[in-house]
Amino acid sequence: MMRFHIITIFPGMFDSYLDESLFKRAQAKKIISVHAYDLRAFTKDKHRKVDDRPFGGGPGMVLAVQPVWDVVKKIKSMRRKSLKKSKTRVILFSTRGKHLDAAVARRLAKYDDLILICGRYEGVDERVAEHIADVEISIGDYVLSGGEIPALALMETVSRQIPGFLGKEESLEEINGSFPTYTRPGVFVPAKGKKWRVPPVLVSGDHKKIAEWRKGLPDSGK
Ligand code: SAH
Repeated sequence: MMRFHIITIFPGMFDSYLDESLFKRAQAKKIISVHAYDLRAFTKDKHRKVDDRPFGGGPGMVLAVQPVWDVVKKIKSMRRKSLKKSKTRVILFSTRGKHLDAAVARRLAKYDDLILICGRYEGVDERVAEHIADVEISIGDYVLSGGEIPALALMETVSRQIPGFLGKEESLEEINGSFPTYTRPGVFVPAKGKKWRVPPVLVSGDHKKIAEWRKGLPDSGK
């Protein structure tokens, strides 16, 4: 079983998404487990603050290192108590991180525990990247407001690599690679005089040609 541990100041954000569809089924089947930890519960600040102003000045606030360190320590110690030797990876979401792609996802799928640190505000005290995280990951060259959507994207694509997560129908892409798909009707009429047709090869019944078309070989389709 792959265990995801999410560190966030918005643990409630994950509930509705993870309680549907494949994620719901995978958790019920114990293929994956997901736990979101509220960073605020780990701060030693008397006002429960998890952020502070950046050294050197500038706008915005920075997530502090202390609560992140304490929650990661706690997660790791729980793992140790389970006696099983588990492979753990600590991931920090960052706009400067390594790009998430299929190869990264395949490698991460081999771990037992993934600890996902979601930044917020202007980012996270750099000592988290220097001393706590094993790797920094970005999901693309654009800025989001936090690491929560990156965490969902990572969990989803990593989970798809885990045997049993996908049903039969959804695993087509793993066998054939990615290709355009169509379904009925063969001709869709969006407005009078307009016709949107599926490529004729797909309704030809010629499976060899269809396979070639899907591989994108020249002259296999139109
Ligand atoms: N000022 C920062 C952006 C902070 S966004 C900068 O210029 O890099 C706040 C947090 O959202 C980040 O710490 C990170 O955890 C997350 N985040 C935003 N965009 C992201 C992306 N494309 N990939 C991964 N994480 C992202």
